[in-house]
Amino acid sequence: MKKVFLLLAVLICLFAFQSTFAQGNTAETVSRIGIVSAMDTEIDLILANADIEYEDHVGGIVFNVGTLCGKNVVIVKAGIGKVLSAAGTAALFNRYDISSLIFTGVAGGVGDETKVLDMVIATDLVQHDYGTIQNEGFVWTSTHDNTNGGYYSCDESLVNLAYDAAVDTVGADHVFKGTIASGDQFVASAAYVKTLQEKFDALACEMEGASVAAVCEQYSVPFVVIRSMSDKADGDARETYDNFVDMAADHSCTIVMKMLENMK
Ligand code: SAH
Repeated sequence: MKKVFLLLAVLICLFAFQSTFAQGNTAETVSRIGIVSAMDTEIDLILANADIEYEDHVGGIVFNVGTLCGKNVVIVKAGIGKVLSAAGTAALFNRYDISSLIFTGVAGGVGDETKVLDMVIATDLVQHDYGTIQNEGFVWTSTHDNTNGGYYSCDESLVNLAYDAAVDTVGADHVFKGTIASGDQFVASAAYVKTLQEKFDALACEMEGASVAAVCEQYSVPFVVIRSMSDKADGDARETYDNFVDMAADHSCTIVMKMLENMK
């Protein structure tokens, strides 16, 4: 009798271990929309509104798997900067069946027209800090593997969906479509803002969009980057950012949720 109990206990343990293991490691069959940000504040509102079925912890990243506005999603804060955001996005694609990706967050306004709390929907993205250091200084070049002159294009239907949701949320006067420039620097310089305008015709600058875009292109996943302006990337950027980052981040989250609601 004792032996039977022991065998039963071992079997129950094995079953429990197997199902935990299976949830965390088996490649999923459900197709999901990936929602990626750099910082907690940029997904807090989304997480508060989502039904999270389970979390996967991989390499220090938490993948929140569940539903948001009736859609299957994985929500992930990948980290600040091009390296972590690209690594998190690749891990997302390797682990789940991701049908499209929405990056949500804040940025510095570069265009004269983009004010704090305005929205910029990226049509394309470029790494403004990729290039060569010559004796004369830094010279920007296109990334070597990019056939599109260093620019990564967002999916047109996702751009339109984001634009309509943004107009609905903050009004047409506060929504812009165009180029976002990404680099591993917090820009707090009016002089550099001018460079970003002149060299790249950028409307906003941030630290993740183009690297996420590069990974999306590599994996052929349609994507869009949406950003609410937390500052103007000028000499006051640090202070303005501190004052507006949370509000801007929430606006961007609201727009993502509206996009999902309107998605077929
Ligand atoms: N509190 C953080 C600041 C994060 S950096 C710290 O002190 O370390 C700013 C984040 O917001 C990045 O994820 C970037 O994508 C975005 N961002 C907002 N304004 C920016 C600016 N002016 N230049 C570059 N990135 C900016």
